Amino acid sequence: MIKVAVSGCAGRMGTAVVGAVNAAEDMELACGIDPNAKGDLDIPVYATIADALANKEFDVLVDFTQPNVVEGNLREALPAGVDCVVGTTGLSNEKLEELAELAPAGTCLFYAPNFTTGAVLMMQFAKAAAPFFPEAEVIELHHCNKKDAPSGTAVRTAQIIADARGFESAAPGKETEMPGMEGARGTFVDGVPVHSVRSMGFVASQEVVFGSLGQTLTIRHDSWDRQSYMPGVLLGIRSVGEREGLVVGLETFMD
Ligand code: NAD
Repeated sequence: MIKVAVSGCAGRMGTAVVGAVNAAEDMELACGIDPNAKGDLDIPVYATIADALANKEFDVLVDFTQPNVVEGNLREALPAGVDCVVGTTGLSNEKLEELAELAPAGTCLFYAPNFTTGAVLMMQFAKAAAPFFPEAEVIELHHCNKKDAPSGTAVRTAQIIADARGFESAAPGKETEMPGMEGARGTFVDGVPVHSVRSMGFVASQEVVFGSLGQTLTIRHDSWDRQSYMPGVLLGIRSVGEREGLVVGLETFMD
């Protein structure tokens, strides 16, 4: 049995993870961590990772919290030798590498900017298309409660496109934005414009729009239910025990 602790257990994603871990026959839900939990879970719930580590044993910590707290959580869990499965977005590659250094040998820090198989495939299709199209832009669309923009998936997609094509786009950039209208061309991630839409009605969607002479190619993924993330989260929980150091991207384990 893999003993799992869920950080952010009272949140939207954390609630879904609690349900998925409870339903998995090879996992045991050890505890939750969330300072805003209301006491409606039938497992011990602690306000901090430090409290959880002092009171419970667990093999894997799953973190779906907030961009401003995930670093502190990992600074507690990784030195204790707990494998971490992180879905909270907002940490840079440099920060993830720095945090992974805190882990003793045999401990894994796994971060996936997106745990849906469809989004991973969208990124792989974008990687395949990127060398053939001079222009590429990313448009991500999320619910209004999302606390960070752009999304981690959008940043990762832009990085993948930039790496795969190996050339710079000649499309107009920020220098064409009208005075007082800064942001019209989006934010640039490794030279790829990224645009963030926040609206009721969405959970998580993304389009990658490629352009070439006389043709465009649009790759789109929509996540309409948080259940779409759960197979990926469970795969991460099952896989981290066999890895160590920093691992980024669900595709690592899908292969
Ligand atoms: P949410 O606001 O519904 O939940 C966050 C929870 O974290 C809250 O219950 C809050 O009380 C709790 N929390 C705050 N501080 C804490 C702390 N110090 N320790 C433990 N818990 C703490 O947010 P959400 O919609 O569930 O999203 C959580 C994160 O997951 C966001 O960063 C979001 O972007 C990300 N996300 C990632 C994926 C992915 O596939 N990687 C998918 C969806 C969401």
